[in-house]
Amino acid sequence: MSKKQFKAESKRLLEMMINSIYTQREIFLRELISNASDAIDKLYYKALTDEQLVFNKEDYYVKVVADKESRTLTITDTGIGMSKEELENNLGVIAKSGSFAFKKENELKDGHNIIGQFGVGFYSAFMVADVVTVTTKAFGSDEAFKWESTGADGYTIEPAEKATAGTEIVLNIKENTEDDQYDEYLEEYRLRSIIKKYSDFIRYPIKMDVKGQRPKEGADNEFEEYQEEQTVNSMVPIWRKNKNELTQEDYDQFYFEKRYGFDKPVKHLHISADGAVVYNAILYIPENTPFDYYTKEYEKGLELYSNGVLIMDKCSDLLPDYFSFVKGMVDSEDLSLNISREMLQHDRQLKLIAKNINSKIKSALLGILKDEREKYETFYKGFGRQLKFGVYNDYGANKDVLQDLLLFHSSKEKKLVTLDEYVSRMSEDQKYIYYASGESIERIERLPQTEMVSDKGFEILYFTDDIDEFAIKVVAKYKDKEFKSVSSGDLGIEADEKDKETAEEQELHKELFEQMKDILQDKVKAVKASKRLKSHPVCLSTEGEVTIEMEKILKAMPN
Ligand code: ADP
Ligand code: MG
Repeated sequence: MSKKQFKAESKRLLEMMINSIYTQREIFLRELISNASDAIDKLYYKALTDEQLVFNKEDYYVKVVADKESRTLTITDTGIGMSKEELENNLGVIAKSGSFAFKKENELKDGHNIIGQFGVGFYSAFMVADVVTVTTKAFGSDEAFKWESTGADGYTIEPAEKATAGTEIVLNIKENTEDDQYDEYLEEYRLRSIIKKYSDFIRYPIKMDVKGQRPKEGADNEFEEYQEEQTVNSMVPIWRKNKNELTQEDYDQFYFEKRYGFDKPVKHLHISADGAVVYNAILYIPENTPFDYYTKEYEKGLELYSNGVLIMDKCSDLLPDYFSFVKGMVDSEDLSLNISREMLQHDRQLKLIAKNINSKIKSALLGILKDEREKYETFYKGFGRQLKFGVYNDYGANKDVLQDLLLFHSSKEKKLVTLDEYVSRMSEDQKYIYYASGESIERIERLPQTEMVSDKGFEILYFTDDIDEFAIKVVAKYKDKEFKSVSSGDLGIEADEKDKETAEEQELHKELFEQMKDILQDKVKAVKASKRLKSHPVCLSTEGEVTIEMEKILKAMPN
């Protein structure tokens, strides 16, 4: 039996594709500029193997020109251009990628910069244009051709005039409708910001004619309009630069430009990994908590670039929740993108990168804690709570990563200490790591329960945050030392002698205690004599795992 080829209603297919694979219209510019950059790259690779061809970097650029009157947006490149046949193949066949073929033919693997691979990006132009005209001249050819299409109805190709090799794409920008705005794609500032957002690190200049006003020479208070060609993109991404060439200001400036935050980050990490996964990253540990940080509105994530082109604004898979405060970007050549290039196809590489980043952040934080204590405490003030949530969440799966990053106020040191510092100061007869919970340090200090432990000369950690005690319950033990609330029944320090005395006392005042229990009824479980009190007449204590403070919080929690 002969096999039949599928037929496709190409008109419908094109419409479906254009309107369904992209979530944002503005990416058409990213796609066209990426194609232009690929076209220049191809000439560059040709020059590497062809001695006749000299590649002068100055001659290669992309130009974007908007004309409101004719409603056209023109994207020109000085790249390799297309022959008639290539026009047919690459722009006439949906999902055919000349760039992908080029990579294969030339066996380009690592380190290549060519972006195209799916053969659909070009058609995204029809999201904003009703007519697209491509005039192109292949490098080394005398003939130029014009391809024109309104999208759904197919295309025409005819001979054209073009002086130099390269491609010019003219988009007739659609008219505004009630629901859809297209005028913005003719606005200089809007185009600039789209280019900055997605294509800032394209390696060739993206030029625009920028209009401005300046004081007129020789005349006071008079201004004249002027137009000037400017390069809009920064070209060399800061993360590809050598660390030695970069100053603290460069990193701070990048943080500011990218609007990661308006504070001055506590620390930056510049990672160039080339092990199991190859990626570059610049990460920041901020100083201040964003106003919405501890709300549901806050979105964690890092910017994700593939070969210098922005793919995702906030890739949340790159950061665990407990490090959700980290800002920055990751660029990798190793990602397998899905067709819209807005998502990833496989997350294996992403998982590897995330794991790698996670351990780098952890060691960076430990480093700050060790060498720049003051800075760490500033950071901790804002984000310590998140670390403690991290210990508590996921049934303590991450406590090992996080417990050494915790700080608590110490009764002895009168400042924040780590668990490690606490344990290293413990005396031999001290069995537990003691803590006391309360609203504030002052209130905890006045708790009758803290007196006895302090009198023994033992250090107490003061828990003033709701989450503290929950987190510590999950940690359970640090360096084999268990945690113990000062208000728990058995403190592990009452001497036998005292226990006996307590029992006698209990007998002696039995009736009084029974009467007290009758009056208090369900408010308490029992009334007992205690040897724990010194300057206070009574104290409340708990039996079992849940302390008074935790009970209060549990009661306040919404069901
Ligand atoms: P992709 O970039 O993923 O290959 P596109 O739909 O964006 O897919 O482009 C299809 C093909 O058209 C490209 O692979 C390339 O061969 C060709 N092409 C597109 N734009 C240009 C250009 N400006 N110069 C030369 N060739 C181009
Ligand atoms: Mg493309």
